[in-house]
Amino acid sequence: MGVQYVSYKPKKILNTHKHADSWFWDKYSAHPYIGCEHGCEYCYSRETKYSRGSNPADFSKIIKIKENAPELLRKELGKVPRDTVIVGDYQPIEKKTELSRKMLQVILDLDFPVSLLEKSPLILRDLDLIEEINKQSGASVTFSIITTKDDETKELFEPGAPSMASRFRALKQFSDRGILAGVAFMPILPFIYDDDENLEAVVKATAENGGKFVLSGGLTLASAQREWYYRVLEKHFPELIPKYQALYGDNYGPECKYAGELGKKVSRLCQKFGIKDRMPRYVPDGPLAVNRRISERLQNRVYRMELDCISQYKMWAFRKAAWALEDLTESVAEIYAKKGRAGLESLKGVGKSLAEEIVHQLEEGGCCES
Ligand code: SF4
Repeated sequence: MGVQYVSYKPKKILNTHKHADSWFWDKYSAHPYIGCEHGCEYCYSRETKYSRGSNPADFSKIIKIKENAPELLRKELGKVPRDTVIVGDYQPIEKKTELSRKMLQVILDLDFPVSLLEKSPLILRDLDLIEEINKQSGASVTFSIITTKDDETKELFEPGAPSMASRFRALKQFSDRGILAGVAFMPILPFIYDDDENLEAVVKATAENGGKFVLSGGLTLASAQREWYYRVLEKHFPELIPKYQALYGDNYGPECKYAGELGKKVSRLCQKFGIKDRMPRYVPDGPLAVNRRISERLQNRVYRMELDCISQYKMWAFRKAAWALEDLTESVAEIYAKKGRAGLESLKGVGKSLAEEIVHQLEEGGCCES
């Protein structure tokens, strides 16, 4: 069956997250299509909660086009505070509709920062607009890449996606234009692409192509997507099924020790090649910049704790404090200057030890230039 395109006019397009995402730092997201012709076999969008109960096979075969996406985005972004938006989708139909380009134009007009996550070098078509947004309000581009082994991956896991080599070349072009660019090394497929050689090859190629960061993450398995992925394993790697069952059990993610070790290996490789293992956050100047900077640092600490598999309790304390700083309408530096440590402790979501941590960041962390 070929791909079927269905145009429609949704009533809403902008998703507003309760808190800024700690990977891509977006507060909003808006996408012009439902379904994806790239058809990656591991794609979490085949999960029941995302596919809304439709057949997971339809995900890459029926593409719904939100034909009023740019108009809706303009209307909805016009009503919310300025913050980073994840936008766009450069699967093949984008060539014809140019909806992602039109959405970028809206973002430029309304002066929002943008973050793009892509697998297709078609995004280079809009380099001019992304460059303008970057100069005006900040932009980042992340390419999703799981290995450097091109032919094999296309055949097994990403049947409709452009080559890895073309993604690395595109990454370089963004980086050459001074746009923050990096790689989402996700999902690292257990027992297939988690070997040291592949980890090093991806991080090295990112650095060589001007990438500034590699975000690593494991495969998640849930509902219909779990069944789908296991069918792919059965076909190509039946001997791995018992290993996956031991690693995942009935859980959504792999066991913590495995995920933590993998993340730490990628972090060490990033250090070796002089790039970061977290995406640097775009923070506009202004009195609240210090809040965002400290929040970013606290969230990055949470990431390290996750890799160390430490107690959820401690992680949640850091997370809540990071969110509290995000929500503050007054500079945390001013609160500290006026009311001291007690002022910080009285903030909702910030207890004694996190107040201590914030003081440390304010006094020694180099957070307070603006
Ligand atoms: S590019 Fe692949 S992983 Fe991303 S949405 Fe499309 S099918 Fe899913």
